[in-house]
Amino acid sequence: INKKPIVLNDLLLDLKNSYQSYATQQSKYISLKPCSKNVVIHADPIKIKQALSNLLKNAFEATKENALITISAKENKNTLLIKIKDTGSGISEDKLKTIFEPFVTYKPTGTGLGLSVVKNVIKEHNGSIDIQSKLGVGTTFLITLPYGND
Ligand code: ADP
Ligand code: MG
Repeated sequence: INKKPIVLNDLLLDLKNSYQSYATQQSKYISLKPCSKNVVIHADPIKIKQALSNLLKNAFEATKENALITISAKENKNTLLIKIKDTGSGISEDKLKTIFEPFVTYKPTGTGLGLSVVKNVIKEHNGSIDIQSKLGVGTTFLITLPYGND
């Protein structure tokens, strides 16, 4: 792990831009709601990008035409909350229990590795990840990262 100071909003904009043409091709929309403060985090930029990218990829795979995918970030006193929200299929209660495990996939050609990588990256940054999901409505992945202490 190779931590550096990163301007979070720059990283989020970068991420949005890297998915923009893919979104346009599929007639989907990405909305970015950056942090109101220009927060700098100490994190491994490659790993954080990889993790957020895995979540975005899943959001695209879970949604149909015209769907909205929202990337947002909010700073609290000592933590940072990053959300990746989709208006896709949602995840059933029974699936929720196992989707972070490696090789668990419900896609015909999925690897089941995306979320296990996400979990490891968040762990390496002493953060945590939660899911809010409703079948047929959508899913939000919530990442909490510590900041301001290092
Ligand atoms: P893969 O994408 O290769 O299946 P992941 O680890 O990325 O592997 O995801 C595991 C499973 O979690 C997926 O197969 C899917 O069933 C479920 N999942 C993950 N993200 C979402 C999402 N945003 N909406 C609906 N289901 C999801
Ligand atoms: Mg995936």
